[in-house]
Amino acid sequence: MSTRLILLGPPGAGKGTQAARLATRLGVPAISTGDIFRANVSEGTELGQLAQKYMNAGEYVPDEVTNQMVAARLAEPDAADGFLLDGYPRTEAQVSELDSILTGNGHELTHVVELTADTDEVVARLLNRAEEQGRADDTESVIRRRLDVYVEQTAPLVRIYAGRGLLVQVDGMGDVDEVTARLADALGSSAG
Ligand code: ADP
Repeated sequence: MSTRLILLGPPGAGKGTQAARLATRLGVPAISTGDIFRANVSEGTELGQLAQKYMNAGEYVPDEVTNQMVAARLAEPDAADGFLLDGYPRTEAQVSELDSILTGNGHELTHVVELTADTDEVVARLLNRAEEQGRADDTESVIRRRLDVYVEQTAPLVRIYAGRGLLVQVDGMGDVDEVTARLADALGSSAG
């Protein structure tokens, strides 16, 4: 059966790392909105110039812009038989957009995985990443803002998907390989 999976979780929970591993395992493309925005920023595209100011402030890029970008990405042939979405949806309006894209194609989500993480730990991880990679949105005040925006706008999505019976929660703390093993277990034993 095709896998259509969303990976939810706060900044710093390790979504990007686990998304790549899981996608390989499941044989579907990992689609990260953050990566697509960053690629556009480095290529200096119009989309990149627009997104950059929001990203650097720790704010979400406006829904219309993000939705349009994701709709185009999901229409590419490699996503026809399944996908793993990392970083989308992040707002209720994005949930609705994804619902209508999927309904239009006669598809359904198969899994929503929430990677849970302790706030102190994610702040520490993000600060550490800032030192190593120098990402413009990894300064301490921007990190705080991103966590607040997550709690306000994205955490409510957990309830929406739980209400649909799709949610699986996985502890994102600990060793990277351990978390991958937990994810594999959780997906292996879920109905989808
Ligand atoms: P992280 O998971 O570390 O917060 P991402 O790499 O997923 O970071 O995203 C980086 C930034 O890209 C976000 O802070 C936001 O500005 C923008 N972004 C990514 N995905 C979305 C989305 N679905 N909606 C709006 N903005 C987004």
